[in-house]
Amino acid sequence: MKNENVIEVKELSKIFGDFTAVNKISFNVRQGEIFGFLGANGAGKTTAMKMLIGISTPSHGEASVAGFDVYSQAELIKNNIGYMSQKFALYNDLTVKENISFFGGIYGLSRKEIKSKTKQLIDELNLGEVANQLVGSLPLGWKQKISFSVALLHNPKVIFLDEPTGGVDPITRRQFWEMIYKTANEGTTIFVTTHYMDEAEYCDRVSIMVDGKIEALDTPKNLKEQFGVEDMNNVFLKLARG
Ligand code: ATP
Repeated sequence: MKNENVIEVKELSKIFGDFTAVNKISFNVRQGEIFGFLGANGAGKTTAMKMLIGISTPSHGEASVAGFDVYSQAELIKNNIGYMSQKFALYNDLTVKENISFFGGIYGLSRKEIKSKTKQLIDELNLGEVANQLVGSLPLGWKQKISFSVALLHNPKVIFLDEPTGGVDPITRRQFWEMIYKTANEGTTIFVTTHYMDEAEYCDRVSIMVDGKIEALDTPKNLKEQFGVEDMNNVFLKLARG
């Protein structure tokens, strides 16, 4: 079912008083797709994402995520997606293992499932040596990789990544993206915001928001052709500068 839409958005808007932060955006994201959600600071990305993950009610328009409606099924959306940002990460004062158990419990996994997932995750991420260390003592790149895996513990159909690699070194970012590819190949949809234009190149399709509107949406290759430039950085600069 690779052609199934996991996210459907139609004319979605969010208005704060007399300010329109998100202005009638429309797009669909397919199963297993890596969808990059770009825009300058203040363009409206976070506001749009909050509506999609069920924590902010839209002012107008329609949207569904993982088959659930953002107005009437926000709780179901929260239970059926993964979410990771730099701001909401793991608990620094719990060990790696304790974090996995804690979040596994929150996601409703059984003890048996938590045990097998913990082993799997520790093996896959090569965390054997640090499994009993406090997360607070680990480098940021490690925390982000663990945090990504934890957000996938309950096998969500879609994972939302809000600037997941902010402040992380280039090698770790590359490794992080390898994890993203693997996850997408296994059929999970990836919705990712980033300010790194090299990361935009890794996405299947990229949307670029300017002042609340989606001004461009296509594959990186087509966007570069459309704007007659060599890289995504220049696509972004052309759009953001008008
Ligand atoms: P960044 O890359 O800096 O995170 P962003 O694209 O995520 O930016 P948003 O955080 O969505 O941008 O903000 C879009 C606009 O909406 C900004 O001008 C912001 O000040 C405004 N805004 C966001 N939340 C509110 C709110 N609760 N009330 C009023 N205005 C808001």
